[in-house]
Amino acid sequence: MRRSPIIAPLSVANANPADVYISPVNLTANGRAHLGHAAGPFLRMDVVQRHLKRAGHHVRSGLTTDGFENHVLVRAARENIDPSDLAHGFHVEIAHDLASLGIVFDHFDDPAYGKNLQRFSNVSNALMEALSAAGSLEFRAARLPVDDAGSALTPTEERFCIGGWFGGTCPVCGASAGSFFCEQCGDHFEPDEARNPVSRRGRIVEWTDNISAFLTITRNDQLVRAWDDAAIEPGFVEIGRRYIARKGQRMRLTVPGLHGVAWNSQQFNTRQILFSYSSLLYAHSLYCGHKDAEASGTPSAFARNSDTFLIGATGIDNTIPMLVGVTGCALGQESFRQFDRIFFNHFLLLNGSKFSTSRGHVIWAGEIAQVPDISIDILRVCLSEICPEEAETDLNPKQLIDRYNAILDKIAVVFNRCTDIINAMPSSAACHVDDAMMLTLNRLYNQQCSALSLDHLRVSHVSRSVTEWLDCVDSNPHYQNAYTWLMGFSILGWPLMPRITEALWHWLGHEGHPIAACAARPSSVRSGRIPRIDGRSLTAADIDGCLPGKVAP
Ligand SMILES: [Zn+2]
Repeated sequence: MRRSPIIAPLSVANANPADVYISPVNLTANGRAHLGHAAGPFLRMDVVQRHLKRAGHHVRSGLTTDGFENHVLVRAARENIDPSDLAHGFHVEIAHDLASLGIVFDHFDDPAYGKNLQRFSNVSNALMEALSAAGSLEFRAARLPVDDAGSALTPTEERFCIGGWFGGTCPVCGASAGSFFCEQCGDHFEPDEARNPVSRRGRIVEWTDNISAFLTITRNDQLVRAWDDAAIEPGFVEIGRRYIARKGQRMRLTVPGLHGVAWNSQQFNTRQILFSYSSLLYAHSLYCGHKDAEASGTPSAFARNSDTFLIGATGIDNTIPMLVGVTGCALGQESFRQFDRIFFNHFLLLNGSKFSTSRGHVIWAGEIAQVPDISIDILRVCLSEICPEEAETDLNPKQLIDRYNAILDKIAVVFNRCTDIINAMPSSAACHVDDAMMLTLNRLYNQQCSALSLDHLRVSHVSRSVTEWLDCVDSNPHYQNAYTWLMGFSILGWPLMPRITEALWHWLGHEGHPIAACAARPSSVRSGRIPRIDGRSLTAADIDGCLPGKVAP
């Protein structure tokens, strides 16, 4: 296991800054990003990257959307528009949704779009050739359903009823499932393993043998050992183990199709494209690594000899794709390496049931961020607290409103009081830190850094240090205490509340973002306007305004 970057104590400079690259798993570009996505891997990784930057590490990040996933085709066919246009439109909206919550990346591309496609195709081919050279490919016929949705002119590749066109009963848990995956138990199965197979666009008329490439890892227990190296939490390892017990260290790498990244082999009996949940998923990572290497002038973070610490993150529905597909592709060749950590989260529910676009049971991240005068910082705190890290959690609108208003009121009172006190003093006088308060700050910083440990990540616990710090200054503090409190607030608050803490940090005479090493380094400079927290309360009407439909009871 690669050791996590070391976090230096508060007020101590980082003697060994590590290079870290964070690349959460892509979103399928068949819809926007809702709060379930945002509060899961994306906010979580945003908090982690700020924590590492605050500790003096060099962090870069990249994200993509998948415009070739089969559900893009399904939606494009339903709406009768070009799948590439549909996917790129959603790519732009997803970027906006995430950015409106302060979640941004050093690069965020649609690899299927325009000139990006060449790079995507190159890394995909490099991966498949490397897997082939290492003897990790197996060409096998799989029985696939064909339906009657096409006409006599429909190419063979598009007659297969797979992906979003296919429905059935999960062979493992019996839940109703579609595609190649069961959302209920997380398992991955081939269409001919599903019970009660149906076509969602017509009728299945026959089953034919189609030859695809499959990944095969021959060394015993290699995947399980790799999961251990990536500090995968036990519940997710269990899903992976159950799959291996059933299917071995194997997974599909290509599917028949025309819309996607093609890979050719004489073994195939139709054209094949890379599968979005194994080879293509890893190719998205390699694309990010390639793009980042170009921008940073370093070798790709995924190159075998790279020292960069690699972090991935995704939801429970991508457990098999990441643990078997991506990790398997990383182990099955000699050119590229695996993630050093992969963080999985459970589902976030909305008022007790899954987010659903079709039922209008959804809150888009970009919609709630546009509520007039809402504090994105406070919203991020509320979302972080319900981050589904240990089990499913529920976004209950009433609880969200109550929590938001309680945090806002409390922070605004203390923050505005302390800034008023400091503002009333000559800046040369009000720039000393209080030793007793620094001891408390030190304890709270350590507590927060344990919650952010890359060996046992609990972003849902990060706000605790901030709320405790709110109680560490009395109602009429001495200016030295007010100054110390503000310095501490900018340090502890930055990962969750970047906007107000950066404004504060700059006002207090510092540059860039809050740095833990500078927590006790006062500055007599005051720059810019005095920062204030003046947001208004959140109301039920605000939340209602974000819902395409009504929240289901
Ligand atoms: Zn299942």
